[in-house]
Amino acid sequence: MSEDLAFAPSQSRDVQTALLAWFDREARDLPWRGSDDPYAVLVSEIMSQQTRIETVRDYWTRWMAAFPTIEALATASSDDVMKLWAGLGYYRRARNLHACAVEVMQDHGGKLPTTALALRELPGIGPYTSAAVASIVFGEAVAAIDGNVNRVAARLGAIAHDPSRAAFRHAVSRVATSLIDPARPGACNEALMELGAQVCSPRSPDCERCPVASWCAALSSGQPTQYPSPTRRKPPRPESRTSIVAVHDGAVFVRRGTGELLGGLWEFPTYDADLDAALELVRAEHGLDGEAEPVGDIEHIFSHIRMRYDVVRLATRSARDTTDGEGRWLCAEELESEALSVAMRRVASVVLDRL
Ligand code: SF4
Repeated sequence: MSEDLAFAPSQSRDVQTALLAWFDREARDLPWRGSDDPYAVLVSEIMSQQTRIETVRDYWTRWMAAFPTIEALATASSDDVMKLWAGLGYYRRARNLHACAVEVMQDHGGKLPTTALALRELPGIGPYTSAAVASIVFGEAVAAIDGNVNRVAARLGAIAHDPSRAAFRHAVSRVATSLIDPARPGACNEALMELGAQVCSPRSPDCERCPVASWCAALSSGQPTQYPSPTRRKPPRPESRTSIVAVHDGAVFVRRGTGELLGGLWEFPTYDADLDAALELVRAEHGLDGEAEPVGDIEHIFSHIRMRYDVVRLATRSARDTTDGEGRWLCAEELESEALSVAMRRVASVVLDRL
């Protein structure tokens, strides 16, 4: 490794060769792998952010069956989009992907731009996703740095900087970039990601099985897991909400959610308020009134929030959909197929046997 923490060109070629040979042999068989459809790869990359590949596999297959082209996605209703994303979490990704498809149809003639720089102009596409798509589908020699690549590069270069500092990101970028073979940039990026996922795991890297062990400075140091140096994660902050599940004649009331966490999905009216205030709000906003009974609580962890939902069953005297289409009554079977978040499904489970 040279002074500036990147591999020298001759060394880079050896590492690339070993890495690509391993990838060609060991890469997992994923439905989007080998695809030259930029849209299919984009969907896989967006879905894979902060989500396990095994989970993504089924979601991606269902998504591509429902929206096989960027045009099909652009013309879909946001309700159908959210329905297919429901359960995958980080719902902003779905809203952005939908907005991205609309923009590509309107401003790019239905074709995704072909460079990482241009891709980054689209909604929801950041440095990692743009580089991944540009390298995998359009052959641009640019490093795509996700959490796995970050770790592998930090270990290969024994990068000791604080991971929250720019110096660390620059050093990782130099190592990862030096491992991109311009003849197969996408495969190099995928190989580094795959190595991080399959071999160079955070706590117990399997260095004996690692194709690039001969060049790994962290392994030479004898303490590979010391790299990257640990960052202290803030624990999720506790918050609480009151969820009102209005029931009437075997049906429950849901409304279109807004806000950062669950916007676009259906939700039970949920308020950052205590029981009395929440009942007043649900009466004022939706005309729902009746006999209220607290029936339990559930806890759901979002990435940065530990949320407690106090669930209130509200037996209402009448049931009418709202005139603006933003509120509906659904029976238990309909609830199953609608776009509800995992958190709201858990809220529903507290009440469902008492409809
Ligand atoms: Fe990771 Fe070990 Fe391979 Fe180094 S030798 S890249 S620490 S698996």
